[in-house]
Amino acid sequence: MLKKAIVIGAGFSGLSAAACLAQKGFTVQLIEKNSYAGGRAHQRTIGGFNFDMGPSFYWMPEVFENFYNRFGHTASDFYTLKKLDPSYRVQFSNYEYIDMPSGIEQVIKLFESIEPGCAHKLTKFFKDAEYKYKIGMGEFVHKPSLSVFEFVDLRVLSSLFRMQLFTSISKEIRKTVTHPRLRQLLEFPVLFLGAKPADTPALYSLMNYADIALGTWYPMGGMVKVVEAMKKICDEQGVQFLFNSPVEKIVIKDNIATGVIAGGEEHYAHVVVSSADYHHTEQALLSPEYRTYNSSYWNKRKMAPSCLMYYLGISKKLVNLLHHTLFFDEDFDRHASEIYDHPVWPSAPLFYTSCTSITDEMSAPRGCENLVILIPVAAGLKDDSRIREKYFNVVIDRMEKLTNQSIREHIAVKYSFAYDDFVSEYNSFKGNAYGLANTLMQTAFLKPSMKSRKINNLYFAGQLTVPGPGVPPSIISGQVVAELIDKEYKYL
Ligand SMILES: Cc1cc2nc3c(=O)[nH]c(=O)nc-3n(C[C@H](O)[C@H](O)[C@H](O)COP(=O)(O)OP(=O)(O)OC[C@H]3O[C@@H](n4cnc5c(N)ncnc54)[C@H](O)[C@@H]3O)c2cc1C
Repeated sequence: MLKKAIVIGAGFSGLSAAACLAQKGFTVQLIEKNSYAGGRAHQRTIGGFNFDMGPSFYWMPEVFENFYNRFGHTASDFYTLKKLDPSYRVQFSNYEYIDMPSGIEQVIKLFESIEPGCAHKLTKFFKDAEYKYKIGMGEFVHKPSLSVFEFVDLRVLSSLFRMQLFTSISKEIRKTVTHPRLRQLLEFPVLFLGAKPADTPALYSLMNYADIALGTWYPMGGMVKVVEAMKKICDEQGVQFLFNSPVEKIVIKDNIATGVIAGGEEHYAHVVVSSADYHHTEQALLSPEYRTYNSSYWNKRKMAPSCLMYYLGISKKLVNLLHHTLFFDEDFDRHASEIYDHPVWPSAPLFYTSCTSITDEMSAPRGCENLVILIPVAAGLKDDSRIREKYFNVVIDRMEKLTNQSIREHIAVKYSFAYDDFVSEYNSFKGNAYGLANTLMQTAFLKPSMKSRKINNLYFAGQLTVPGPGVPPSIISGQVVAELIDKEYKYL
């Protein structure tokens, strides 16, 4: 008998799960609250500017390629990938910035010119990071992590030691370089994607390997091209889409999910996968007796940041910016502490800008620039229009000074997105942008489980479960959950 699967949510993890389940022979219905696919990664066109609303760093290109290969495709069937070199700029003050080259050798050369004598230690740092990347991305991320026993095997245990789970990345970086600027350059990927470097296991130097060795890429047309590609693959596999249909309830009979209610209508299924935020699925779609985790569990989770974002259409060409620019002209540790230690609105935030029109002229009208500004802020802070305007003025003043040009008077389009929008648009817990922080106690089998412990045929995918936040992990999450379901349903 054909088995029917319902997937809730059409972000990367939901699209990935749906395509893989359909390929395995399930009849798949994907039900999405909004009118579009892509979730946090959708694109919005405002006044002729095409804004990618979420992710902008295309890292780990082989994860995308592996996904496409599964379906007989390759990335170039859907879009042209461009490698950015330099990968990004870090602006430290009016006159001081570092352009991060692409490639380990070039980065070592640059670091050596700033801190003579660090090349040897840096080479070791990248070698270790490569090992972690290869084991982490080759083996660990493909485990459903339902139990600690998946990791009890001599080879895995011996590699765990080298994976440096119990030492912090901040310590590891401090052993490698002493120059504060260089430390910040190495700490940036973990800070922006999930936790204070001092609380992040050194395992995550694999992100430095992804950043520096594998490079920063851009799909021409924007990150939405990946969404369109995955949607097309779902269509080819026969996935049925139901948009504008928030799931209101998962229907349970005798501890089995029999389907969901969306738009007042009941949809039946043999298996349900929720790729909507885990907290929302359990707390809003299930009654208390069917939840694996209660609200006290959620309140104790350390969340990755939320973001305050501005999408600006600029009616002239900008100078002194790269496609990706990080403004690190304020105190890094203070901002990190205001996100993670005692969550408050930042006193002097670091921020990041993405200017896609530098690489992709189609993302803005001719002669104009597409500028997105992102300020990472603690999850759960309430925002209002006064706060948004205050930080807008702070970052525009600083940008004008640091890049030596007028910007404010050339703004043709202005749109902001923050806490309230994350909640209303995606049902995001505490308005989180990137799910759970990457701390040791929230890694692998210590993350919210991919399978409900109360309902036998309810599964989860997405950035709040394994392997974690980011576009590549979300795509992998959908693949892993489909493998798990296929294994468990094969003989039923
Ligand atoms: C501003 C920002 C910048 C980022 N930058 C990067 C980056 O540069 N590189 C990178 O790799 N990652 C980045 N990330 C992280 C990355 O975008 C996410 O980890 C990833 O997109 C999450 O995918 P997902 O499928 O888990 O969740 P989502 O994309 O949130 O998908 C979940 C879907 O479920 C839907 N849904 C929710 N509730 C319901 C319901 N009741 N019924 C039906 N549907 C429902 C939502 O509408 C949504 O479409 C960024 C994220 C943000 C927000």
